[in-house]
Amino acid sequence: MYTSHASCLEKKSVMKVVTQLYHSDKSSTVAFYSHKRVICVNLLSSRAIQKVDMFGSVVVGIGTAGFVRIRDMLAPLPSSAAEKLSVKGFISRRTLEEQQGVKQITIEDALRRDDIKVAFVCTENAVHEENIRTFLEAGKHVCVEYPMAMTHKTAVDLWDLAQEKGVVLHEEHIELLTADFKQLKKDIAGKKLEEGSLHFTGGPLKPGFGFPAFSGIARLTWLVDLFGELSVTAASMEEDQENKYMKMTTQLMTKEQKPLTWIEERGPGLPRVKNINFRFDSCTMTQLPPAAREPVGLFMQDLVLFSQKLLGQVPRDQLHAERHRVLHCLELADRIQQLSQQGQGSAQDA
Ligand code: NAD
Repeated sequence: MYTSHASCLEKKSVMKVVTQLYHSDKSSTVAFYSHKRVICVNLLSSRAIQKVDMFGSVVVGIGTAGFVRIRDMLAPLPSSAAEKLSVKGFISRRTLEEQQGVKQITIEDALRRDDIKVAFVCTENAVHEENIRTFLEAGKHVCVEYPMAMTHKTAVDLWDLAQEKGVVLHEEHIELLTADFKQLKKDIAGKKLEEGSLHFTGGPLKPGFGFPAFSGIARLTWLVDLFGELSVTAASMEEDQENKYMKMTTQLMTKEQKPLTWIEERGPGLPRVKNINFRFDSCTMTQLPPAAREPVGLFMQDLVLFSQKLLGQVPRDQLHAERHRVLHCLELADRIQQLSQQGQGSAQDA
């Protein structure tokens, strides 16, 4: 028996708790006597008791990603580890009204409060490092939207700091969770790559998102996840700042010495599209496979994964492989930036 006075809670949040508890265990019986201002929830499982043990969280940066993080924590996937997160506030450099019923708090408050154990870093990329470091130093777990940092070395330092503090540092990679990517991965399994290209186009980025090898790390992560570790053989960058146009062209090589080209092109009016051309020993793929949209949203899938890490439910070798992949991609991004900015293109010349 789990009893509480409704006067302590707003009716809306009570209804949400009741709904979640109901969905979290179909064998539960749930009764809600609002007219008596008393909630009586009789659960046959121990889930309700476990709900007391929550990870209070703060969201830093209220843009697209920050909004979605708050939304997902307010209505987590029923019966998932994400139910363990509860949003306590958000931080912004602007003074904002409540966001989805969640209040703005100061960074000092968030760092000081014992009930806040987790920070979601959803700012523009240029200030990820500073925010991650601040929260890790305070012993808080951190979930950061990709890319974690703007150099490989910084990411290594941050990961070491997380380890030293005994907290989780997680870099979101929703691009690996899309239905089309999962289908593509299945479709190419067992095929031998001869050569390939991935050409991304999209609109111009706002300031603070950094060099395209970092802001576009999702495309590089696709290539590494599909074809294994890569090396950079050449990279160049065309830029017309006045017209907000840029094109980064990168030549990569697989361990089997098969060439891959990655192009990141942004400019006004360019559609947000990924064009692929992968030539295998047995066939050529020029289009992403059709895949039905999955019922669970991408950020929610990532939230569940992060929560599982907080609960120690993710196997050590999976954590290790993830860290290795993230750092490998950032190392490649570093190299691409270096070669592009040197303007000499080829890795052999460097
Ligand atoms: P966004 O531009 O919508 O939001 C960025 C946040 O930074 C906003 O809160 C914005 O207001 C704030 N900000 C920037 N400059 C500021 C300033 N000077 N003062 C106050 N606030 C300022 O960007 P986003 O799409 O939410 O991306 C955030 C992060 O999430 C990035 O690291 C991005 O790479 C990552 N990400 C986003 C998506 C997505 O679908 N939007 C997907 C994957 C990863």
